[in-house]
Amino acid sequence: MTDATDDVYRLAEMTWEEVEAAIETTRTLLLPVGSTEQHGTHMPLGVDVFMPEAICERVAAATGCLLAPPIWYGVSPHHTFKPGTFTVESETFQRYVRDVCVSAGEWGVENVLLVNGHYLVQDPELEVVVRELTTDHGLRAFHVPLVSVFEDVATATRTSEVSFHAAEFETSLMLAVAPDLVDLEAAEAVDPPDDAVPLTDYDAYGDNRVGWALSPGRMDALTHTGSLGDPTAATEANGRALVEAAVENVVTLVDALADTRA
Ligand SMILES: [Zn+2]
Repeated sequence: MTDATDDVYRLAEMTWEEVEAAIETTRTLLLPVGSTEQHGTHMPLGVDVFMPEAICERVAAATGCLLAPPIWYGVSPHHTFKPGTFTVESETFQRYVRDVCVSAGEWGVENVLLVNGHYLVQDPELEVVVRELTTDHGLRAFHVPLVSVFEDVATATRTSEVSFHAAEFETSLMLAVAPDLVDLEAAEAVDPPDDAVPLTDYDAYGDNRVGWALSPGRMDALTHTGSLGDPTAATEANGRALVEAAVENVVTLVDALADTRA
């Protein structure tokens, strides 16, 4: 796979006149949404932003759509047991993300993709946001949790039994997009305790709906490193496959939007 190219419409690096010209060619905005939170002893706090941003850069390069500066702060109360983690209230987060998207609509954006690297946790908020954007503000808005767009490849390539937080999937993906930020020697497998919470296997693709609802305040009881699962199972090759799958799926959506008007 090629790296993100330089001819990407990165809004933060453009003048308003450049945006005015670009909006004549595309009406689609990619907004990476993440969180600044602990990711174990082997990865930095920005993982949930670095992942969707890297994928959005590649999608923007392939499609010519606009790339917004990311949402760096998310809903992460369950990670504040380790320093460096930030969290905002659910309502604050929803309003902030919604307002960012609505303001883009003011200058011509018609389609917004919220590409979410802090998946599972802030999915409910972003589902509400896309509904509001669609029904109240005339935007075509989509919530794109990364875990959904790389699911097939993740299921096919995984080697660890549990991959929940800062584990196989996230570590593989980071090895592919920002290897200098991963210290695999500091990675350690942490299994969920057998008696932690019933009805869950703490896996990104497992039966977590009930378990997750019970678990946010309990991460400190589940892991001493901050990871949950086995990050040592991560490989750069699998990370590349995850990125390619995610990019391909998001490109499909962007292309479909370009073919139809809002
Ligand atoms: Zn994460």
